[in-house]
Amino acid sequence: MTITVLAVAFLLLILITAFFGQRLLSRKTESVKNSVLEQCAICRNSFDKAELVERQIGDIKILYFCSNCIKSLYKDIPGKKLVHL
Ligand SMILES: [Zn+2]
Repeated sequence: MTITVLAVAFLLLILITAFFGQRLLSRKTESVKNSVLEQCAICRNSFDKAELVERQIGDIKILYFCSNCIKSLYKDIPGKKLVHL
């Protein structure tokens, strides 16, 4: 009798773990679908598209720039007035 109760409890534990595991995985998949990764044109690191500045060059080419590279470019401007970003 005790073994049967333990077996049922173990089975329930497995089912509960599988149920919550599946919910966790499906949530993770949705968040991956919502974020689109793009490469920064300068450092070539991948970022979420929402974090990047997008500029169209010519008719077709679209380039993305990350904030670190933009700050780096800003520092390189010759004769600029100092403004904190
Ligand atoms: Zn970059």
